[in-house]
Amino acid sequence: MRERLDRLLKEALSELGNAASKEAALQVKAKYLGRKGELSSLLKELASLTGDDKRGAGELINNAKNSLEAAVGVRLSGFDEKEMAERLSAERVDVTLPGRCVYPGKLHPVTQVLSEVEEIFLNLGFTIAEGPEVELDSYNFEALNIPKDHPARDMQDTFYVSGDVLLRTHTSPVQIRVMERAAPPLRVIAPGTVYRRDSDITHTPMFHQVEGFMVDEGVTFANLKAVLTHFLHRLFGEKTSVRFRPSFFPFTEPSAEVDIRCVICSGKGCRVCKGSGWLEILGAGMIHPNVFKSVNYDYEKFSGFAFGLGIERIAMLKFGIDDLRLFFENDLRFLRQF
Ligand SMILES: [Zn+2]
Repeated sequence: MRERLDRLLKEALSELGNAASKEAALQVKAKYLGRKGELSSLLKELASLTGDDKRGAGELINNAKNSLEAAVGVRLSGFDEKEMAERLSAERVDVTLPGRCVYPGKLHPVTQVLSEVEEIFLNLGFTIAEGPEVELDSYNFEALNIPKDHPARDMQDTFYVSGDVLLRTHTSPVQIRVMERAAPPLRVIAPGTVYRRDSDITHTPMFHQVEGFMVDEGVTFANLKAVLTHFLHRLFGEKTSVRFRPSFFPFTEPSAEVDIRCVICSGKGCRVCKGSGWLEILGAGMIHPNVFKSVNYDYEKFSGFAFGLGIERIAMLKFGIDDLRLFFENDLRFLRQF
């Protein structure tokens, strides 16, 4: 019995040593230690023995079984460790690589400035109006005192859709559309996109304007100055100097262009203000009686002022950007800076 056991144990250990995989080792375990395995069948033979023989043989078999079980355990944990080591090296993470940043979504700089402008006028009791971007010639030009033969039409290179239909060249037609529908008093701003056939470092074929106007009895140029000065102080800071220069627009009389002290050089003169120390920010004026006539307002009774400004120009000054086209290229490296 002892010899048979020794031989069996030796065989088992050598097969275990040769097992090339965890599966093979488990097969060896089943072959010798399983319920129908070799050692189990030896145990069954004990039934034919008696007394001390039986006790001695039982002890031998159990010892053999224990040492084989221990050997199988060592072998199996060896495979487990190897497997874990392989997995760790395959799934190795290089902690020295730079992390992948998740950027939060943000508003476009033009949208940011537009919201700021809207906020200032909403606080002054203005409301927001919108109008179509594909506009009729009569709203874009004629009702604004720019008849077909008016020289001002040469100033604006217009995208025509067909004879009398065009892409609006300014947000001023919204002024006409609002006044057609409503009676004074009115305090309205009309932000939106406008289109002109122009493209260079300071012009793009599409850009954003805000038109604003106030109509009531007794509105004077003093109201215009007060509202626009307040607006520019809120936008560029209370200490910003503002000046009004005489100018000409067909739809206002008198008209003014409004400048602020250069925000880049504080008035010393630089490339942005072309050495003048001042920056032109918006156009404004008292609404022309002919405009009131076109919407059947009593121009003896009512008066009002109107103004218009370009949002991109303000965004360029606020953020110190020198090329307008950057706003529309949607390069994330540019947009993430705001
Ligand atoms: Zn300057």
